[in-house]
Amino acid sequence: MIKDSDNVKLLEPGKTPAKRKILVVEDNELNREILSSFLEERFEVLLAENGEEGLKILREYYRELSVVLLDICMPVCDGFEFLRRRNTDKVLSTIPVIVMTGSNSKDAEIQCLDLGAVDFIPKPYNFKIVMGRINSVIKLRESVLTLTAVEHDELTGIYTRQAFFYHAKVLLKAKAEEKFHLVVADIRDFKLINSSYGDKIGDQVLCYLARTYAKMMPHGLISRYGSDQFVCLAYGDMDLSLDIMKRVTEEIAENAPIPNLMVKYGIYEDIDISLPVSVICDRGFMAIRSIRDNYENSIAYYTKELNQKQMFDRKLENRFDSAIRDKEFAAYFQPKYDAKTEKIVGAESLVRWINPDGSMVMPGDFIPLYERDGLIVKLDEYIFRYVCEFQRELIEKGQKLVPISVNLSRVSIHHTGVVDRYVDIVKETGIPFSCVPIELTETATLNNVKIRDFTERLVNAGFALHMDDFGSGYSSLITLSELPFNTLKIDKSLIDCIGQDKGRMIVQQITILAHGLGMNVIAEGVESADQVELLREMGCDDIQGFYYSRPSPRAEFVQKLCEA
Ligand code: C2E
Ligand code: MG
Ligand code: MG
Repeated sequence: MIKDSDNVKLLEPGKTPAKRKILVVEDNELNREILSSFLEERFEVLLAENGEEGLKILREYYRELSVVLLDICMPVCDGFEFLRRRNTDKVLSTIPVIVMTGSNSKDAEIQCLDLGAVDFIPKPYNFKIVMGRINSVIKLRESVLTLTAVEHDELTGIYTRQAFFYHAKVLLKAKAEEKFHLVVADIRDFKLINSSYGDKIGDQVLCYLARTYAKMMPHGLISRYGSDQFVCLAYGDMDLSLDIMKRVTEEIAENAPIPNLMVKYGIYEDIDISLPVSVICDRGFMAIRSIRDNYENSIAYYTKELNQKQMFDRKLENRFDSAIRDKEFAAYFQPKYDAKTEKIVGAESLVRWINPDGSMVMPGDFIPLYERDGLIVKLDEYIFRYVCEFQRELIEKGQKLVPISVNLSRVSIHHTGVVDRYVDIVKETGIPFSCVPIELTETATLNNVKIRDFTERLVNAGFALHMDDFGSGYSSLITLSELPFNTLKIDKSLIDCIGQDKGRMIVQQITILAHGLGMNVIAEGVESADQVELLREMGCDDIQGFYYSRPSPRAEFVQKLCEA
């Protein structure tokens, strides 16, 4: 089995190599003994009786070997054959070979040079020459190594990402018959750890994790992949089931240098070794991304479905610009009804992505994604303009008009210029502000200076504000009184419960409270006549839901408006 490197220190200039590992491939027992007894003082010597055995050792110890001393004439697999087979492997061929030749073998020497040997030692051995050649070959190679590869992460001592890619590739090839598994780790809020405990403790956390992972996977490859990310590649039968992983990761967190260390783990079992190492690692991190916003779950597994979902997401992201350009996004309209008169008193615009083939993508598939990458700001503005222009058209045609509310993602709050642009769009289209109320989702986190400033600017500009999805998340009653919303939309999850006593009581109290604060109350997601009846009794003002109407395309909506 290939072992992890000893992390041999590189040579300093002018120094003689000490305790490097050398492989001697020599069939003659006497020669082997003479060489090894002499070399053992300075080196760790591995012995092989023929080329075949030599190749086996080379494959096993390639990471630690400094040089190979190779006899030419041997049974089973001679020196030439050894060199030829070594040359088929890019990594093995980086280990220098010094050929040991008899006195009359110029042709053989030339042939060996052609096959990549770096030097010769004539037989019988002169030990000063043997030592000198070995030393200079090792020095030369190691100085090249220092220049070309800083393999180990300075802080933790484990492989750097580049070195990992390299060794993982070799390992996957060398052990192609084995089952490989990947575990990746990502420290949560590492920046916060550094800022609250200091960089030194941050470093200790990194070293602790590197040490722990290396101990747990003695035969695996461990790497510091990103500043706060690790990857471990291992093979063989391993139990990476959720129960085991939970136990192990809890233990890791318990023994960490800081309390409450949170690390997310992505596991890719039985990996497809035909893939590039970078793609294999991506799959581990893909699993982590799937639980990024989940505080309860710290372990995720890569699955085919996850991959398909990510590919679908990438497609949605990549196609965003062209979809905007080709006007593939459209608003559907869901009417809101007066609870008493059952007349249409408003509507909500709901985005739909209509593909050129006519198929439709629902907002649930792309809104969360676009909220993460920020594209939502552009999409919301597009839909807002769409609705304003639609209202303009209705005004121009002298058709019946109701306010059509537009959803605005919370993400927009963190973008500058949104309020000004929305105001400009209303002014450009020349419609009254009252035609386009804005729906913002209620959440406890909204109650801060930023949201207050944002909502006040919207209201001061003339917009009506609807608090969306009230009761769906961390409902904060304080926001009701502190922020300038004029309408409260009770979330479907609460409406679903109004058949039960407690549910009915909650909705009733919310309605009373909102009315007390001078707000209008809309129930959303209303699906049955019973619900309508209960809501009406409770004094709910407006009702939106499949019971009355599903969201419909503009022509159909206009027709509904005209019939009303
Ligand atoms: P929302 O703003 O709470 O919109 C109400 C959602 O409930 C809509 O889903 C609507 O079709 C659905 N709905 C209405 N009545 C019923 C009912 O009786 N039963 C059931 N089961 N569902 C009902 P939709 O259109 O899939 O939109 C989902 C969410 O996507 C919206 O929830 C909103 O948060 C977001 N969204 C939609 N359009 C936009 C947009 O233009 N911008 C932003 N930022 N978000 C949008
Ligand atoms: Mg809404
Ligand atoms: Mg809603």
